[in-house]
Amino acid sequence: MTNILISGASIAGTATAYWLRRHGFTVTVVERAPAIREGGYKVDIRGAALKVIERMGLLDAVRARSTEMRVATHYDAKGRPVATFDADLFGGRTGDDVEIMRGDLNELLYDLTRDDVEYLFDDSITGIAEDGTVTFERSEPRGFDLAVGADGAHSVTRRIAFGEESQFARDLGYYISICTVPNTLRLDREEAMHATVGRTANVYSTRQDTGAKALFMWSSEPLAYDHRDVAGQKELLTRAMDGVGWRVPELLEAVREAKDFYFDSVSQIHMDRWSKGRVVLVGDAGYCASPASGQGTSLALVGAYVLAGELAAGDGLEGYERELRPFVEANQALGPANVKGMVIGSRVALWFQLKMIKLLPRLPGRDRMVERVTGPIARAANAIELKSYVE
Ligand SMILES: Cc1cc2nc3c(=O)[nH]c(=O)nc-3n(C[C@H](O)[C@H](O)[C@H](O)COP(=O)(O)OP(=O)(O)OC[C@H]3O[C@@H](n4cnc5c(N)ncnc54)[C@H](O)[C@@H]3O)c2cc1C
Repeated sequence: MTNILISGASIAGTATAYWLRRHGFTVTVVERAPAIREGGYKVDIRGAALKVIERMGLLDAVRARSTEMRVATHYDAKGRPVATFDADLFGGRTGDDVEIMRGDLNELLYDLTRDDVEYLFDDSITGIAEDGTVTFERSEPRGFDLAVGADGAHSVTRRIAFGEESQFARDLGYYISICTVPNTLRLDREEAMHATVGRTANVYSTRQDTGAKALFMWSSEPLAYDHRDVAGQKELLTRAMDGVGWRVPELLEAVREAKDFYFDSVSQIHMDRWSKGRVVLVGDAGYCASPASGQGTSLALVGAYVLAGELAAGDGLEGYERELRPFVEANQALGPANVKGMVIGSRVALWFQLKMIKLLPRLPGRDRMVERVTGPIARAANAIELKSYVE
């Protein structure tokens, strides 16, 4: 097996391309977008994934681009600050964990691979035959020994090889929306948020950002909507946030102008196997943990490392399934638990959460309480012993 196709050039795709090349495989990556996607939101790299980044020689470059967020502040409906706390605690980061913009990380990974990996932009696979012949929307059909689906939670590769998404998607009961807005709150490496029962609004501006990102999450029954109808999705968000105070009305006005609007359910992908014949899935395509887990990027990085390593020096696809599954399960378990802390379900719980945040710096059992927030994330992020695969 030497000639491998990867569908998707985001974190999972570019990281898999890097490790496959390093093990001597010939790699082609097909990406639907016309270029590597810039921007996006901030993501965390923790635990085992930091080791993967280090083994790629990227640790210093990643740290140099970290978001350097300082604080997070909760505001009440009238705009009065209720509680302020450390940004790392807010993000569940401990030790050497790094937060970086997804686009910055993707650019670093792309730069590392662009010279010896073939990238086909503005294209998509349309079929994979049993003999490995892959057909494309634009390119001519070509033969590959293996096709890797790294094309995200709504993976086309998964649909072609394994069937409809509904068999594998687990809806956690929430929606998320994020986009760029002007920094009218004059945030400087800080987050500002307002929570009401079932609805949370958050605005942040990182070190690199001249504007800000507005992120909304809310609990909801499944919504019927057209994935291509961005105006319709903005309308659903506006309706979901109707009546929420603080700066939310003004943020929703800004959302109307946003060009990078993202809208999706908070869902996970659960599969009994990630490989079938000549197809294997990596990252969100195979085991999306949802944005609520805060571990999607780390799962993609570790998954890429293990997949390429097992193909080169281990037990191939069986080894990938075996080595990675406990790590995936530990991290997916964070999603349903974390989301309840991000969107609060009752007035009592909301009152209690704000009280705790306010009192935390002065509480006698502070370290124990902080550990209750960061401990499960840190344990899941380290729940794999990485083999070395390369000298
Ligand atoms: C709002 C939000 C907040 C998040 N916050 C965090 C966080 O704090 N921490 C964290 O670790 N993770 C976070 N994540 C998750 C994280 O972004 C992903 O888990 C991570 O980027 C790994 O994704 P991936 O590479 O598997 O897929 P994606 O990033 O979804 O990339 C899929 C790629 O495939 C391409 N593609 C799609 N279809 C096709 C096709 N047919 N043909 C070719 N290419 C195709 C897409 O254009 C894209 O480039 C968040 C996600 C979202 C949406």
